[in-house]
Amino acid sequence: MSVEAVSATTKLLERIECFDPATGAYLGEVAVTTPDEVRSIVSCAREAHQLWRNTDFSERRRVLRMLMDQILRHADELVELIVRDAGKTRENAMLGEIWPVCEKIRATIATGERHLRPERVSSGLLVHKQATIEYHPLGVIGVICPWNYPLQNVLGPVIPALFSGNASVVKVSEWTSWSAARIQKLFDDVFDAAGYPRELVTLITGYGPTGAALVGSGVDKVVFTGSMRNGQRVLAESAKTLTPVILELGGKDAMIVCDDADLEQAVHAALAGVFIAAGQNCLAAERLLVFDGIYDAFVARVTEEARGLRQGDPLGDAFVDVGAMTMPGQVAIVEALVNDAVERGARAVVGGRRGEGPGSFFQPTILVDVPDDARILHEETFGPVMVVVRVASEEDAVRRANETEYGLASTVLSRDARRAKRIADQIIAGATCVNDFALTYMAQELPFGGVRGSGFGRLNGREGLRAMCNVKSVMTDRFPLHQPAKLYPVKRGDYETAKRTIEMLYSDGLVARAKALWKLIRGA
Ligand code: NAD
Repeated sequence: MSVEAVSATTKLLERIECFDPATGAYLGEVAVTTPDEVRSIVSCAREAHQLWRNTDFSERRRVLRMLMDQILRHADELVELIVRDAGKTRENAMLGEIWPVCEKIRATIATGERHLRPERVSSGLLVHKQATIEYHPLGVIGVICPWNYPLQNVLGPVIPALFSGNASVVKVSEWTSWSAARIQKLFDDVFDAAGYPRELVTLITGYGPTGAALVGSGVDKVVFTGSMRNGQRVLAESAKTLTPVILELGGKDAMIVCDDADLEQAVHAALAGVFIAAGQNCLAAERLLVFDGIYDAFVARVTEEARGLRQGDPLGDAFVDVGAMTMPGQVAIVEALVNDAVERGARAVVGGRRGEGPGSFFQPTILVDVPDDARILHEETFGPVMVVVRVASEEDAVRRANETEYGLASTVLSRDARRAKRIADQIIAGATCVNDFALTYMAQELPFGGVRGSGFGRLNGREGLRAMCNVKSVMTDRFPLHQPAKLYPVKRGDYETAKRTIEMLYSDGLVARAKALWKLIRGA
């Protein structure tokens, strides 16, 4: 490589050039945070945490309320920023980013303290002692974000981290770095007004190495949201320092449409499941498993609706339903999966190609007759492609739903509640929503996360708040007794006494226990 080429590459890695994915317009550039800077930011966050960890819940509620007010006051501006950075529609940004974030703040304010206050539990045999579970903040939470939800991916983990007394350092995606400075200002304004150090939440920008530096920086926990491949890298890196991680990875979610489903409800759930954020949704309905009895009617109706979808620049003159692909390279990934399916015999009844324009688009697409060996049935698409598969029975639907290495979420549509629940019970996934798409995410008391290749650990609700804590077991005196428990020096007969005591406590039935007690008394 020439000196000029090396120097150009190095410069490129020192900064990120940001583009509007819907128009290709250059937005500007942001600096890459170096590993040394990451370490210093984490150490400042740790200092800020020392002050914050001593605040009580009412103070944390006050600060979260201020954050909510900031978001509401600047909602239109934030939406426009998200649209520029990610290429999604204004409606998707308002419904899918602002709303869930506000709901999360509301839910945390309403129930957070209940989930985190010390909890008395039975002390078992130790009646003279009191047993308590306490939830202490971990310290500094490292958050690594993908590009599909520039605001929500940041605030999703930061809200529970803050409420449980932690500081956070958040690496945003290199594909949606343009919005980072404005989101940082949101936090800065709140902490300035509330009287806390800005270092409680710091957004950093960079590529994979910046993320890797954060994982190895000594943070107390990492919340990684992204692809399975990078999740594995994060896990390998975190093993070196034994840093615990939550992995929120990809999915290949099934949406099962039973033959007794309400047709309109199913069609609109499918449209939402596939075309929200142009399918760049971890919870997307990646596979529509449609029962034979409703298949033709479903395909006809959903095709009619999808043909009418308008695509283009969400901030342009024309009104659009579906926006752009945030990461330009994703167009090629989606295209390759669609072409592979078509080459193997699938039919694109709607769309099927790249969209027009200087921006990055893939047409809203519906594929039918997709053969089992098509890659699109097994690999995450993360694009606006509805893959409709005919299934013969409940068993067939469940088998296909589980025929994936992922396990994030799922949907079942049926008018028979017992049937829907029976099917839901058999799906291996972190969530199932009956008769609606992804509403589990809007009930913020429900934990969110996957199984198998979709990762592990939970955000949201009680589990999400407690995941940000050192769950500490504390034992204190119930009575002011100060009798020493003398184990030393060991005396003859101690072993027998221990054995008889265990038999007396745990033998099956009164007779056996009475015998053990008698032996114990005799031995004493
Ligand atoms: P990605 O894995 O390419 O990148 C995610 C983040 O990881 C980026 O910030 C990136 O810079 C960083 N990164 C890359 N290499 C790293 C390394 N070695 N160490 C640490 N960090 C590193 O994912 P993406 O393409 O941005 O996002 C799409 C993926 O995210 C899809 O698979 C999608 O399903 C998944 N996703 C999952 C959820 C969920 O909650 N389960 C939510 C949104 C997206």
